[in-house]
Formats: sequence, C-alpha cells, structure tokens
Amino acid sequence: MAIYNLGSINADLLYSVPHLPRPGETLAATGFRRGLGGKGANMSVAAARGAAHVVHIGAVGPDGRWARDLLTEYGVDTRHISVVDDVTGHAIILLDPAGENTIVINPGANHAMTEDQIGLALSEASPGDILLMQNETTHQAFCAKTGSDLGLRVIYAAAPFDAEAVRALLPVMDMLVLNAVEADQLQQALGMAPDALGVSDVIVTLGADGCRWFHAETGQVRDFPALPVTPVDTTGAGDTFTGYLLAGLDRGQPMEQAIGLATKAAALMVTRIGTADVIPDLLEIQQMTQ
Ligand code: ADP
Repeated sequence: MAIYNLGSINADLLYSVPHLPRPGETLAATGFRRGLGGKGANMSVAAARGAAHVVHIGAVGPDGRWARDLLTEYGVDTRHISVVDDVTGHAIILLDPAGENTIVINPGANHAMTEDQIGLALSEASPGDILLMQNETTHQAFCAKTGSDLGLRVIYAAAPFDAEAVRALLPVMDMLVLNAVEADQLQQALGMAPDALGVSDVIVTLGADGCRWFHAETGQVRDFPALPVTPVDTTGAGDTFTGYLLAGLDRGQPMEQAIGLATKAAALMVTRIGTADVIPDLLEIQQMTQ
C-alpha cells in the first residue's frame, strides 16, 4: 500500500538573534541554519522513516531542488514534486536566547500546484491507499474529492486550522487528526464536538497528555497516554505523530497499535532539536523501548 501526501515543502530559515527586533529595528543575526520543514514534508519524512511508501505531491521553486533531493534521500518518492516558476515556500524563524520566536511563512511554490499535477499523481494510486493532506497547500477540495472517488482513505491533518477548510472536506473525510487547540477552534467555529462530525476516526493529540481517539463505528472514546520524556523542542511532534500513525495504519496495524507506534516516535522527537532532519527512524524507536 502507499500514502499519497499533498503537502507543503518549506525551507526553515532559522536566525538566532540577541532579542526579537522591534518595529523599524535592524538587527544582526548571531547564527543561521537552514533546514527542511513544512508540515507536508515533515509528515512525509515521518511516514517514510516509519517504513511506508510515501508519494509526496508538492512543488518547489528552482531554488528548492535541495529540498526535493533531501526528501529523496530520506526515502520519500519525489516524482510528483514539481519545480515551478516561483520561490520555494519558506519560514523565516527568529529565535531569541530565551527560546521565544517569531515566524513569517511565505507559501510560494506550495500555492503554485495545479489540478493536473495532482490528478496525474493520484492516477497511480490504488483503492485503499491513504491520501493525506494538511492546510498548507491549495487544491485540497479537488484532491480530496478525486481521492475519494478513486477509493482512497482521505485523512486530513487540520493545521494550520481553518474551519472552512475542514467543513469543505467533511463529506469525504475518513479520518481527522488535530491537536487540542485546533479541536477547540473546531468546536467554536462549527459548534460540533469531534464525535459529532460524522467522520469515522478522529484523533485529538494532547501534547504531554497523549491523545484521544473518537471511533464512530463503536461510539468509543479512548485515551492513550504519552511517554514520559524530558522535552527540549516540541516542534514537529504532531507531524511525527501523524506520519507514524499513518505508516502503521497503511501496513494494516489496528488503530491501537498504530497510535502506540506514533506515541513512541513523537516522544523521541520532542527530545531533539529540529524538524524533518531529526525525525527518528524505526530502529531508533525499537532501541528506545528495549
Ligand atoms: P502538535 O505538535 O500538533 O501541537 P501535540 O503537541 O499534541 O501536537 O503533540 C503530538 C503528540 O506528540 C502527542 O500526542 C504526544 O504523543 C507527543 N508529545 C507531545 N509533547 C510531548 C511531551 N512533552 N512528552 C511526550 N510526548 C509528547
């Protein structure tokens, strides 16, 4: 089986600064690091490290070939990442010594995909494959409808949160993954609790408190604790969780087992600084639990 991921690819441009700049201030950075990021890329890397066959559907600009090459190196199928005439999506992250940050995101090429590109990629999929999306690209509704018509399992990670984007996909959504803040936003915007959405499986991640699974078929709500670790950087925890969860489900694991795997991967991830580049692989997860 395979996971098709319509997802963003960003260059994370991380500048260390003595303090966050005030309006009008010019400030020299004390350090700079470029990493691979974007929720889409992070989830593709996580699922690939979880041993799934992941086909990433995305776009970079001519300045972003390195990001595509890195995804290939990390085991992601990158044949459907196009190089378009736009700047590669990027996040400018300013980080002060206390760990406070400000972030500006420019979607760039992530908003330059076409329906033809998406249709072509999905034409290779087989019924039962997973179609994953987040909210950092365009054409989600088209992609979800096409995937659903082809018999794919449509899974939406609702971040960054937009109630209308969730509402548009609800009729074809098989599974929704969101964090506690997003679940609150959903409740406020649509007036519906996760178990009232008509979606077969809803997972709400709760940070250090683990996650909650709403299973429509049985009406059950089940809680799964997180692993006790000392976090140093929670960036990418949710993306790692989702990628591993889907890798487990894609190879036929029951939900409980896939959540167990995702919980371990995410716990290890929060003990590391960085995003896609440091997502753990299966071997590291096995070693962690020995
Ligand atoms: P997001 O990164 O999307 O905000 P969460 O913060 O809910 O998502 O984290 C996703 C998952 O990562 C959690 O369900 C949990 O399994 C794991 N996780 C997050 N923070 C911690 C932590 N401090 N200790 C252990 N596991 C964590």
